[in-house]
Amino acid sequence: MFKEDTLAGKRILVTGGGSGLGLAMAEGFARVGAKVAICGRTEAKLQAALPALGPDAQYVVCDVRDHVAVGQMFDRLYDLWGGMDGLVNNAAGNFLAASEDLTPGGFKAVVDIVLHGAFNCTHHFGRRQIEARRPGTVLNIVTTYTETGCAFVLPSACAKAGVYALTTSLAYEWGIYGIRCNAIAPGPFPTEGAWSRLAPDERYQKLMVEKHPMGRVGDKQELANLAIFLMSDLAPYINGECVVIDGGERLQGAEFNVYSHMAPRETIKQMFRALKPQK
Ligand code: NAP
Repeated sequence: MFKEDTLAGKRILVTGGGSGLGLAMAEGFARVGAKVAICGRTEAKLQAALPALGPDAQYVVCDVRDHVAVGQMFDRLYDLWGGMDGLVNNAAGNFLAASEDLTPGGFKAVVDIVLHGAFNCTHHFGRRQIEARRPGTVLNIVTTYTETGCAFVLPSACAKAGVYALTTSLAYEWGIYGIRCNAIAPGPFPTEGAWSRLAPDERYQKLMVEKHPMGRVGDKQELANLAIFLMSDLAPYINGECVVIDGGERLQGAEFNVYSHMAPRETIKQMFRALKPQK
């Protein structure tokens, strides 16, 4: 789809790039000439991902919730590369719970990673680009329920709505500096991380595909192609946009609302409780 040099000369960090959609995007960027860095909390995962990202790839063990650690990560990458061109805020946490059963800690855990994490990275990236008078591109991975909200994933819905506001706010404010801010809202893309926490039940997976207008889930490569386009100089005038990539799934309503109709509420709540809590 793209020429091999579509992202030649671009230096891009993908947060949460050690697995799932983040890794697929990082692989896609590297394939078309970018130097990529990935970060996450689990070193073994990052190490295992690196060979697929080309000889110039870097990984940094970093928790995006920690503003100081994020600053150190950017210092390291700027020193190493002499500058940067792009940031993809992809790291996230999410879990299913009836909202009346949420704890403040559970709510905070997701908001900290998704919203504060995106702020921390964008803040450090933007300040450095502005100071160096360099343009740049920020791409935020949100969800299709950013605008509608969604049952059973309240912390994620609230946090992603915040990330969408960050996208549009900075698209306007930093447009003058040549820093574009866009978002991608993916529908269902099977990844180990998302599926183990959000769609572990085969009945839900079946229902999701049956109800999907195209009768299928997404392919990670489809999402990577969209990310390459938005990060590249093929899209210099796209700013403040959120591109949905879900095969039309959102038109039937927010995705996890389906759980409301799958079984009695107490059964669903038991199922959520049995799911492993994330770290
Ligand atoms: P995933 O494989 O679980 O990816 C999440 C990544 O974020 C992991 O590599 C994880 O690594 C990292 N991460 C989590 N907390 C972090 C922290 N505090 N600091 C740094 N890194 C952290 O899930 P995915 O499905 O690929 O999701 C990727 C993105 O797409 C997320 O933003 C998600 O909301 C969005 N999305 C996915 C789907 C889907 O269907 N898959 C749909 C809509 C939106 P560590 O745990 O090792 O830190």
